Amino acid sequence: MIISGKELSARLKADMAAEVATFPAKYGRVPHLAVILVGDDPGSVSYVTGKAKASAEVGIRNTTLRKPAETTEAELLEIIARLNADAEVDGILVQLPLPKHINEERVIAAIDKTKDVDGFHPLNVAALWQKQPCTLPCTPKGIIKMLKAAGVEIAGREAVVVGRSNIVGLPVAKLLLDENATVTVAHSRTRDLGAVTRRAGILVVAIGRPKFVTADMVSEGAVVIDVGVNRDPATGKLCGDVDYAAIEPKASVITPVPGGVGPMTICCLMENTIECFLKKQQ
Ligand code: NDP
Repeated sequence: MIISGKELSARLKADMAAEVATFPAKYGRVPHLAVILVGDDPGSVSYVTGKAKASAEVGIRNTTLRKPAETTEAELLEIIARLNADAEVDGILVQLPLPKHINEERVIAAIDKTKDVDGFHPLNVAALWQKQPCTLPCTPKGIIKMLKAAGVEIAGREAVVVGRSNIVGLPVAKLLLDENATVTVAHSRTRDLGAVTRRAGILVVAIGRPKFVTADMVSEGAVVIDVGVNRDPATGKLCGDVDYAAIEPKASVITPVPGGVGPMTICCLMENTIECFLKKQQ
């Protein structure tokens, strides 16, 4: 079974659009997402464009602020302070990575926690690890939604997450643990990675290396979630972290790249923006 994040996210966005259409009558306005892009990294430009497109589909107001690469940290913090203070802005997203002269941690921490639609603010991260209400990071949230939509049983299964980044690996491991999987987190220092990944009933790979996970590293019948977005050096086309063609026949469930985790990430960003908006209406 191939889980199409593209199809699932289209259905979820249609449901959200219907909900958002009721907001002007109920609350006097629609949710408003502010996205800040510093510089013109082509990958970041395309992500920001995708977020604006999804906002339009769902009926969310989107303001994308494009700033030159030379923008200083102080200038960026000033923009964030202004957006924090604006009662008509519900979500603030700073597109990462930022140019090297800007401290990402300071910038993320400056975002009002209640507008942190990425779920990267230290208080949101702490709340996640303490099982308190919080804004969940979009990619891990999208992965759990995909598993559930595909009817994958998570509780009691052996899940292996390859990658331990703050934005994907660690939070997805925590969410799988909260779903009662037995979770192993592997990384670049893991010895005999294949022996670890072969144990996985659910394998999540988020490392950023084209087709790194080969068929011999995956057990027959495993559920494989491929988070990676890479260029295949041989063809120049987009590809994931797993060797999809070789693994698809072995896996019981697998996500493609493109059209898998990526669209679900953007879909969850829309959901988080609506959640932040609704919390303010209570
Ligand atoms: P990071 O570079 O922050 O982290 C990569 C992780 O992979 C690290 O923990 C690293 O280990 C581990 N790793 C690297 N090489 C190996 C190896 N040879 N064996 C085992 N582990 C290894 O990446 P991100 O988590 O930000 O992103 C990972 C991928 O997911 C990228 O391709 C990115 O583009 C994609 N992505 C996709 C999203 C989507 O919506 N589809 C969203 C976010 C990311 P160590 O800690 O030891 O260095």
